[in-house]
Amino acid sequence: MGRRLSCLPPRVAKLDVSVAALPPKEADRFYLSIEWRKLVASLIRTRGRRCERCGKTHEDDGGSVKLIGDHKVERKDGGAELDPANIELLCARAGGNGRPRADGGRGGCHAAKTAQARAQRMATVYRPGPRG
Ligand SMILES: [Zn+2]
Repeated sequence: MGRRLSCLPPRVAKLDVSVAALPPKEADRFYLSIEWRKLVASLIRTRGRRCERCGKTHEDDGGSVKLIGDHKVERKDGGAELDPANIELLCARAGGNGRPRADGGRGGCHAAKTAQARAQRMATVYRPGPRG
C-alpha cells in the first residue's frame, strides 16, 4: 500500500491546479439568497410588474415580463445590497423568444445596463491620466 501512495504526488499536484482555476461563486450566492428574492418579489408587488426603464409589462408571446432586480450602483462598486432605493426592476429578455431588439440588444434592459456599467468600470480603471 505504501508503495502505491508514492505514485500519487504528481496527480495531486495537477488536481490542485484545476481547483484553483475555478471561478469564485460569491456573487451568484447573493442573488439566490432568500432576503434578495423576497425583496425583489415585494418590489414587483408594490411597484407593479413593469420594466422601470422601458415600461414593458408583457413579452411578445403575451406572458408577463421577466424582471430582474438590478442594483443601480452595483455591489462591486459599493452599492447597497438590500436598499430598495438602489434597486431597479429591469426586463431581462428582448422579446418573448429572445429576438434581438431594434437596437441590437438581446437581453432586454438588464443586459444593456450591465454592459454599460461594465464599460464604465473599465473606463474608470483604464482612464488615461490628465494631459500634460
Ligand atoms: Zn426594459
